[in-house]
Amino acid sequence: MFGPPGAGKGTYASMLASRLRIAQISTGDIIREEIKRNTDLGKKIVDFVNKGELVPDDIVVEIVREETNKISGKNGFILDGYPRTIEQAKALDCIEKIDAIIQLGVPEQVIIARLSSRRICMKCGAVYNIRYLKPRKEGVCDACGRDLYQREDDRPEVVRERLKVYEAQTRPLISYYRDKAEFINIECNSVDIPPETIIRRILHELQEKDLIE
Ligand code: AMP
Repeated sequence: MFGPPGAGKGTYASMLASRLRIAQISTGDIIREEIKRNTDLGKKIVDFVNKGELVPDDIVVEIVREETNKISGKNGFILDGYPRTIEQAKALDCIEKIDAIIQLGVPEQVIIARLSSRRICMKCGAVYNIRYLKPRKEGVCDACGRDLYQREDDRPEVVRERLKVYEAQTRPLISYYRDKAEFINIECNSVDIPPETIIRRILHELQEKDLIE
């Protein structure tokens, strides 16, 4: 699943994963968990994340290698937030074959509006939005009842850096994958398109391409 920060990768990937009964691998979630638990790895990477920069390729590749090992032999998986550089894509080629790229196109004003009101559950990582995807009770996760917080890297100055990094390092991957996988392009031009509508469009495209029944 490709797209700039705030495109909705995590939300759509988790909905698709449960609909298709496949695993979701979110490098961002794994990285945030390491930082939260203050592990050796977490300490090494926290500064990159808080500044909106990418964590070094060798570290992220190793995370993905371990995660794909854990689920090998199952139905498959959806990657959310990986690869983000050509090096990471090349490493992935040696791990698994990718069937489809789902590319989310989102205008910058939608990204800014989304990220400034995004909130995350401090326990399970579920994603909410205080304007467009509200929890049932303000400030509290529907799934596990814990508090919601705003990500350090959702502050406007860090968002600007993340957008720059996306343009410079991640967008070039689209041409890298042109001949290697099926392409599904989803335009999300407005903040208030319900996630269900986007999921229906993605599932329809996957069916058209004979990737699912
Ligand atoms: P995300 O939740 O996908 O927006 O990721 C949050 C942050 O984690 C990013 O801004 C990066 O600092 C780091 N990160 C997540 N995935 C990767 C990746 N594939 N390569 C490098 N850094 C990553």
